[in-house]
Amino acid sequence: MGLLSQGSPLNWEQTKKYADHIRKHGIIQFLNIYNKVKDRQKDVLKWGDEVEYMLMEWDDKDEKVRLVLRTAEILETLQEQGEKTNPNHPTLWRPEYGSYMIEGTPGQPYGGTMSEFNTVEGNMGKRRREASSLLKDNETLATITAFPRLGCPGFTRPEHAPTPVERGVSKSLFFPDQAINVHPRFSTLTRNIRHRREEKVVINVPIFKDKCTPSPFVETFPEDDGEAARAALPDHIYMDAMGFGMGNCCLQVTFQACSIDEARYLYDQLATFCPIVMALSAASPFYRGYVSNIDCRWDIISASVDDRTEEERGLKPLKNNKYRISKSRYDTIDSYLSCCGEKYNDIKLIIDEEIYNQLLSAGIDKLLAQHIAHLFIRDPLSVFEEKINLDDENESDHFENIQSTNWQSMRFKPPPPNSEIGWRVEFRPMEVQLTDFENAAYVVFVVLLTRVILSYKLDFLIPLSKVDENMKEAQKRNAVNEGMFYFRKDMFKGCNPVLDGAAATQNGLETGGTNEEYTLMSIDTIINGKEGVFQGLIPILNSYLENMEVDVDTRCTILNYLKLIKKRASGELMTMAKWMREFVANHPQYKQDSVITDKINYDLMRKCDRIVKGEEQCPELFGNPLNRVK
Ligand code: ADP
Ligand code: MG
Ligand code: MG
Repeated sequence: MGLLSQGSPLNWEQTKKYADHIRKHGIIQFLNIYNKVKDRQKDVLKWGDEVEYMLMEWDDKDEKVRLVLRTAEILETLQEQGEKTNPNHPTLWRPEYGSYMIEGTPGQPYGGTMSEFNTVEGNMGKRRREASSLLKDNETLATITAFPRLGCPGFTRPEHAPTPVERGVSKSLFFPDQAINVHPRFSTLTRNIRHRREEKVVINVPIFKDKCTPSPFVETFPEDDGEAARAALPDHIYMDAMGFGMGNCCLQVTFQACSIDEARYLYDQLATFCPIVMALSAASPFYRGYVSNIDCRWDIISASVDDRTEEERGLKPLKNNKYRISKSRYDTIDSYLSCCGEKYNDIKLIIDEEIYNQLLSAGIDKLLAQHIAHLFIRDPLSVFEEKINLDDENESDHFENIQSTNWQSMRFKPPPPNSEIGWRVEFRPMEVQLTDFENAAYVVFVVLLTRVILSYKLDFLIPLSKVDENMKEAQKRNAVNEGMFYFRKDMFKGCNPVLDGAAATQNGLETGGTNEEYTLMSIDTIINGKEGVFQGLIPILNSYLENMEVDVDTRCTILNYLKLIKKRASGELMTMAKWMREFVANHPQYKQDSVITDKINYDLMRKCDRIVKGEEQCPELFGNPLNRVK
């Protein structure tokens, strides 16, 4: 999860004092990078995925499954045996927020040849096997987006009581500090977010009202000092810690563009796909032992790191803070970056004016300057004493400090100083899928999308406020089949910033009437097309593939992936979220009261595990397994 520094972390009071210093030098570092590499062209396509895993332990006697808090030691061994022994090792391992989590990526990014699509699933399999080889017999590694009983009593191994008292990091009523990764970055972020906000984070997820769910659904919390009673909403599942969001797993993809302009174009285009692909990947219907009424984790993780004060949230007049800020620092993007995107920037953008002007005077264009000046309205959250005075020419930690704690749906990544790495964009909204087959399918689908966008110069831009509305829609229960999303009708009628930037913007302004450019569509229409409404992404991907030289085996793999996406979109196959809901609804112990008991959770996770290990088929999720490519 971004930048990891070693050293002595500062508390919030100390961090605050350095906020301006870090912003000032962060901008200098950004400018130094920009000036060195702004004209870089012809970097080749490289890309890579990130998969996050949870470590679980079966307790067959009591029929319970728990999260095991020992990924730190597993990580150390994986790195020892992997990257530290052999720089060409095929996998890379990184820590994640939970002390039961771990993140795996390919050892090297993939390149631009089609045949590499055929190696993604294999590499994911390698990662799963490599980490699994270090587990005990009663443990398993799972790619589950949200552990259904996260935060329920005794959900960890070893068991720890939460520490709701002042000395606690989260002060959570539910999530023990021991479940947070021991690297100081993670506890520092957690504590400083809470201190900056001046209260615990507040997460309220609407509960799924089943036949026997109490109505209104109201919980009481014996350990509460009053904060939970004030924060918890009726008919909602209340959560109070960063771990409820950052303790979930996701699936991300990063692409290298050939130039900064191409990166900006891709950033914008892919931003419009965030809600669509997130709904297609929906995999997290359960929270803190309850069935929720949403299918995706997005708003939960957003609230779980929301460090805004009451003033910034608009609940009190501004006195000690500078800005009213409408979103958490984990949220959707607030502005497009390419010149084509400019006319669709219809969200009020809060920026640091001083930084904005400084960037303009340094020769940065308006769109990029406002993007950076917007990221830099945030304070640093985790600062290490040893890392305050840096060499701005050759280091970028202060820039990365602010950049990597702006957890937006897309991330625009400048090259690190003095590296061969180019301008990159990261696609961040996807929920992680149960199997490597599915994860590879989603990743390859998104990468192919970038290829057709660039090859056919497609344009999917709509006003950014509509993308935000889509993001809300995407999280609703069964949005994949029932949701309606704003989407551009004609993907061929746009502008291409890489080729004809300035002129295109002017034309764009003249066309006006943007509401004619887009309309509400189902995901089925967007993915599979509908006569007279929209051509569909799968048909366009298919025609791209027909024109590409691809070996038979790779083509077969890709077509299988696209089939999964196509059938999830049409409803022929279920999303993980829908499938999990059905499993619970049909479980003999389920009392139609929205409660996921230990036994239900155990049976569900066991079934998931058997499917992953190929011991059981799951045609509802993947279709005919005979067609699956190993
Ligand atoms: P994060 O910013 O999320 O911490 P990383 O920079 O560690 O992410 O890497 C994320 C992904 O980017 C990995 O899958 C990795 O393989 C991939 N990657 C590494 N180098 C490049 C590159 N030059 N271009 C594109 N992707 C890359
Ligand atoms: Mg991660
Ligand atoms: Mg990432």
